[in-house]
Amino acid sequence: MLNFKNYTLKELKKLVVDMELEPYRANQLAYWLYKNPVDSFMDMTNLPKSLRDEFEKSCQLFSLNISDVLQSLDGTKKVLFETDEGDYVESVLIPDGERLTLCVSTQIGCRMGCRFCLTGHQKFKRNLTPAEIVDQVILAQRIGDSRITNIVVMGMGEPLDNYHNVVKALSLITHPDALGYSYRKVTLSTVGLIPELKDLITKGPKVTLSYSLNAPNPEKRRSIMPIENRHPMMEVLRLLAEKTKHWRKPPTFEYVLLRGFNDSVGDAKELARLLKKLRCKVNLIPFNPWEGCPFERPEEKRVLAFQEVLIEAGFSTFIRKSRGQDILAACGQLRWRYKM
Ligand code: SAH
Ligand code: SF4
Repeated sequence: MLNFKNYTLKELKKLVVDMELEPYRANQLAYWLYKNPVDSFMDMTNLPKSLRDEFEKSCQLFSLNISDVLQSLDGTKKVLFETDEGDYVESVLIPDGERLTLCVSTQIGCRMGCRFCLTGHQKFKRNLTPAEIVDQVILAQRIGDSRITNIVVMGMGEPLDNYHNVVKALSLITHPDALGYSYRKVTLSTVGLIPELKDLITKGPKVTLSYSLNAPNPEKRRSIMPIENRHPMMEVLRLLAEKTKHWRKPPTFEYVLLRGFNDSVGDAKELARLLKKLRCKVNLIPFNPWEGCPFERPEEKRVLAFQEVLIEAGFSTFIRKSRGQDILAACGQLRWRYKM
């Protein structure tokens, strides 16, 4: 079924013209889809009745249904969306002071197979469509107690492995006539698929970048992230150093701390040397456990010692709070399910 949210606004204009409608109908549609989302084409009151009837019969308005909302003790909410085929996709709403961040998924499962990640441990099912990515934002907004201020593309899936759909969704999320989020409030996290990363950096849509480094050298990275064999970190670091030198918001490097594997002071010093010449921020993520995973979370003392080394070396270094652990909503704990 036709879903207008699978089209960028530019494509929507063309589609409308191809349907032999006036071009301004695209603006009216965009208003009801993104600015003031309605539940039925019948509520798009400035469209002629005949057109509303036609859309109601032949088009899909929402690609996902909210199936359940789990609330964590710390205020984090996990939203379970049901797809047309009856699979469940998860997004997470994370309140933090003035901020309300939504973490969106881009695939059902993930093909990257990182050893510390529950999503990567599951079978890959399929890419999400642009409409399914954007609908997570539109529908989660109804559950949030305030306006969603930040969007992080850090849920299930590797966004650059679903490049075209993710680019379309990002264009709708950031376009002033669609959802209108500033690029500074939208962060994409990736393991660094080089051709797609290059393309995104050069052609946009502009977003804030986060690179999942997770190790201080290629050997260690390879042993936990198979992607290192195809998309080496040294090449990604070179690309980021060259292309993001003058960015207002430099990239972030994510580093999952795994006890006894990459969390020593020696590892921190090696990481500081590696990133020496880069303008960047470092986000440390103490491992979030899940059943069956051999890794463990480091003690807080070790995490602080690791952070200290980086701060002393001059890097803005943050420890990501583990939010929503009691409902399996923290980084790396998302998964998908078939309908029972
Ligand atoms: N596929 C993308 C985005 C989703 S994963 C990526 O990997 O960047 C988002 C972040 O969660 C990544 O930085 C990843 O390294 C981290 N992560 C995965 N599993 C984790 C776990 N069990 N504990 C803590 N962080 C984890
Ligand atoms: Fe996929 Fe990211 Fe998990 Fe790796 S960490 S398996 S890329 S979701």
